[in-house]
Amino acid sequence: MSELISLIVSVYNEEKGLRQFYDTTKRILEDMRAGKYPALKCTYDYEICFVNDGSTDESGRVLQELKGADQKHVTVVTFSKNFGHEAAMTAGLDYASGNILIFMDADLQHPPELIPEIAKRFEAGFEIVSMARTKNESAGSLKNLTSGLFYKFINKISDTQLIPGASDFFAINDKAAEVLKCNYREKVRFMRGFVQNIGFNKTVIEYEAAERVAGSSHYNMKKLLKLSVDTIICFSDMPLKLGIYAGFAAGIMGVALIIYTFFTRGGAPSGYATIVIVLCFMSAVLFMLLGIIGEYMSILFREIKDKPIYIVRNVEAAEVNRENRDT
Ligand code: UDP
Ligand code: MG
Repeated sequence: MSELISLIVSVYNEEKGLRQFYDTTKRILEDMRAGKYPALKCTYDYEICFVNDGSTDESGRVLQELKGADQKHVTVVTFSKNFGHEAAMTAGLDYASGNILIFMDADLQHPPELIPEIAKRFEAGFEIVSMARTKNESAGSLKNLTSGLFYKFINKISDTQLIPGASDFFAINDKAAEVLKCNYREKVRFMRGFVQNIGFNKTVIEYEAAERVAGSSHYNMKKLLKLSVDTIICFSDMPLKLGIYAGFAAGIMGVALIIYTFFTRGGAPSGYATIVIVLCFMSAVLFMLLGIIGEYMSILFREIKDKPIYIVRNVEAAEVNRENRDT
């Protein structure tokens, strides 16, 4: 049996590391094509689908050179501007034509050496392979800690479960890809979350994230916080219900105060300070709840406007991509 692997690679200002990424992955994919992995039963061809997410450096030129030298295997999808990593992965999902889609970052933090192991899992009958990061060398202890807390929190308040350390490195077969392509067109997106909640036969491979080959991370703490808030809102309506709990708590406090006042025969509980503290506390809770509702409304607003997830300026498909679509 012959399978086509599509490697989907989001690229935003990665000019320095792109060539090394291409050389490393190409070597492994060529070895797989030549049948140099005895543990694999199928034969594999491959497509490397780069999505240029509005890079402002020389990444576009480097991609053109890679495409020029390897028309057969390289696809380049170029966006009209920067739409973000999730949008880039979505475009890869839409344009790649493989039976196995592997999503990877362009900075070699996701070890390409694991590609044969991923293929092996598909041969064993799995349909989704999630890659869980055990350690992220370059992220720093604060980023690692907050990431751990984030997964714990979201799993507590949401019906859907995310694997701790799940990353944007994952692989799906064509059936799972079809579901994501057709039924998961939200504007506020979190692909690794969608992947873990559409069912199918799933397995996890653990890996250690390496250092970036070049450049620096595009996610600072502010962007990560925004991504976390969006994800919590997309996957849970629990924050919306906080208002009811706060209402109950305030009601119980009120009743307790009435009883207290009654038993002290009308004597005020403890004067000015108490009133000010209770007022401040209650208004803080109220404003926080308003803020939470505001966040949900802003996401609803973005969904209702129904703007495109990404806009493509240009697509140059690999020969294997076109052949696979024609058959
Ligand atoms: N990326 C992208 N669009 C963006 C930001 C990042 O396509 O707006 C790509 C980037 O080129 C890389 C991947 O997404 O291939 C992950 O980004 P990064 O390495 O900065 O994130 P980190 O690994 O630090 O979480
Ligand atoms: Mg990275």
